[in-house]
Amino acid sequence: MKIGIVETPGVLKIADRDVPKIKTPDDVLIKVKRVGICGSDIHIFHGKNPFAVYPRVWGHEFAGEVVETGSAVDEGTGGIKKGAHVVVEPIIYCGKCYACRQGRGNVCETLKVMGVHIDGGCQEYIVVPAANAHVVPDSLPWEEAVLIEPFTIGAQASYRGNVQSGDFVLVMGAGTIGLTAMQMAKIAGAKVIISDLVPEKLAYAKSRGADYTINAKEENVIEKVREITGGMGSNVTIDAVCIKKSFEDAVEVTSAAGRVVELSFYETPSEIAAVNVVKKELTICGSRLQTKRFPVVIDHIRQGKLPLAGFVTKVYPIAEMVEAFDYVDKNNAAVRKVLIAMPD
Ligand SMILES: [Zn+2]
Ligand SMILES: [Zn+2]
Repeated sequence: MKIGIVETPGVLKIADRDVPKIKTPDDVLIKVKRVGICGSDIHIFHGKNPFAVYPRVWGHEFAGEVVETGSAVDEGTGGIKKGAHVVVEPIIYCGKCYACRQGRGNVCETLKVMGVHIDGGCQEYIVVPAANAHVVPDSLPWEEAVLIEPFTIGAQASYRGNVQSGDFVLVMGAGTIGLTAMQMAKIAGAKVIISDLVPEKLAYAKSRGADYTINAKEENVIEKVREITGGMGSNVTIDAVCIKKSFEDAVEVTSAAGRVVELSFYETPSEIAAVNVVKKELTICGSRLQTKRFPVVIDHIRQGKLPLAGFVTKVYPIAEMVEAFDYVDKNNAAVRKVLIAMPD
């Protein structure tokens, strides 16, 4: 079978490997149909992901069809059976450490992310634990099923920010993550303000339901948010810009009793005065990967609350994987999601 592998930073190749075999009774073998290229895959390609170990089959966003099940897997295992269409939750956690006992396996002490710490989904077949495979409707196109993982990232941000109906939510950054966070906040009943530097991204966000857009190049985001909210500020601010200043601005612009959700792995310390956190009694939290968000997003799709058509920018066959990475790398502003189609 064909695999897409980053051999060492900067060296991305299509290679051949034997089809993997089911190892434990709880495993399933999946024929992968589509793989999404994420910003973090580009970082892995360039050697800029501190967690990545090489050589690595990339891909943490993937969907496919179950072709074989382990002996302990039956339809009681989340409806998993041969022929089921599934999207894969790409994290493996221990279930025993403090974070796991809190129900937060996404920050497990020994967390392993497929495509980062262990091999990922850019291979024609992959074996994963059945618990990591979530059944999606057969009628859902593969191009849309593969988007579920990125939407779980937005769902996690909305969940961590405890977004409630009627809240003003500021999403900083209208890239893929910002868009998914915006849509999840909308489903929760919030009024969403989204900011970005790129007019096309803002126009797209508006077309997908953003209530207000702010071009951060032309307008002062903090002032504009205060104007929109009658001086209150945003009740929840989700920082998907992820630089020193965006964290500082998020603390500044968020209302009393509000929540700041950080998605950044930025290492430069931000300057935040404790008084600004205390006087408004802000909750500041990180949002990493996701916990238990796959069923939530799939449920929204089943209920027709989350239209996904038009989100994918381009689809490349695996033979053109290197070109696909190059396209994502060079067209950052125009790309929402580029997919790799695996052979039928
Ligand atoms: Zn991703
Ligand atoms: Zn753990």
